[in-house]
Amino acid sequence: MNDQVAVVIVAAGSSTRMGGRIKKEYLPLNKGTVLSTVARTFLNTGLVSSLVIVHPAGDVDSCKEALNSDKDFFKDFAHIPVYFAAGGNSRQESVFNALTFLEKNAKPDYVLIHDGARPFLSEELVRLSIRHTIEHKASVPYLEPSETQKEINGNKIIVRHLERRTLASVQTPQGFDFNAILSAHKTAHTDGKTYTDDTEINDTYNEFKTFAFTGESQNIKITYPQDIKQNSSMETKMIRTGLGYDLHKLVEGRKLIVGGIEIPFEKGELGHSDGDALLHAITDSLLGASGLGDIGSFFPDTDPQFKDADSAMLLQKAWKCVQDKGWKLENLDCVVLLEKPKFLPYRTQVQENIAKILNVNPDQIFVKAKTGEKLGDVGSSNAIEVFATCLLRK
Ligand code: MG
Repeated sequence: MNDQVAVVIVAAGSSTRMGGRIKKEYLPLNKGTVLSTVARTFLNTGLVSSLVIVHPAGDVDSCKEALNSDKDFFKDFAHIPVYFAAGGNSRQESVFNALTFLEKNAKPDYVLIHDGARPFLSEELVRLSIRHTIEHKASVPYLEPSETQKEINGNKIIVRHLERRTLASVQTPQGFDFNAILSAHKTAHTDGKTYTDDTEINDTYNEFKTFAFTGESQNIKITYPQDIKQNSSMETKMIRTGLGYDLHKLVEGRKLIVGGIEIPFEKGELGHSDGDALLHAITDSLLGASGLGDIGSFFPDTDPQFKDADSAMLLQKAWKCVQDKGWKLENLDCVVLLEKPKFLPYRTQVQENIAKILNVNPDQIFVKAKTGEKLGDVGSSNAIEVFATCLLRK
């Protein structure tokens, strides 16, 4: 990805609800503090080109100390510029300061703005946020409110009964096209109005409106010190494994496509779709683990719309359904049995392509190359056989 994505972490508040003693962003968590945990999650994705931390005006030192408390932080991310910008009197002003700082120093294509007190977001949420921001120019993760929602007036009288399915409880990171949110913030800076968050500033001054996508229930904003204890011990509630298998005949006049990558060979996979056995096995393992069905029920080979279909697109569709059920991928492990041609030279490229299709880290995907030891249909180069197993959690 060549797009430059900057991240702004806002940690300029005074934390009065924590008793005003220690800022919540500076409380210990994992290898360092809440702040270093947040920063690490973003930078771990490998998709962030620069980071700005907004600190309380006049106190950059405690902020640097909070990052340094994770001894390896600056060593692990030595290649990524980390900037510090002074906060303002309000969150809006703090974000404005960070954006004008970025304008002078980094000029990114996109920016994600995140609350420093939300340390429990996953790397997947960061990846999703970047993807939706690039696609829609403005994006925000949200949860459907779990309680019935009412609007009340100053006398605590209900004045409106709201329909829950039309409501979104929004989180951060809020992602934007950089130039668009910068110019909206510049206008908002002088219009004398108060805004609830950056999506409102975007939607007030930009033509395009913010796209809301499913966020994470664990992505809470720490309000009280006990929130840290409760949530850091929050365990994965469910894990599931899935097994996928596929076998395709190799015939002349067809392309050999493995994991979305075309491998030059005199034969290719026979199939209704493009015949990519590896992606079919992966699709089946993910659908199986989530209990949603299998590739045959999702994409029947009697349906003409799937003739010569791009299996990467089919996998993406199935994966989206699995993700919509709240599942996240822990890892995917595959075995490709192919006598000829040699698969090993293409392995890295195939692993990276699968990671791209699923929008996960390449180190979550592994593909092993085996032959048929000259035995059977695989051994005589008349077939490709594939096994795939995955681990999902939520
Ligand atoms: Mg197949």
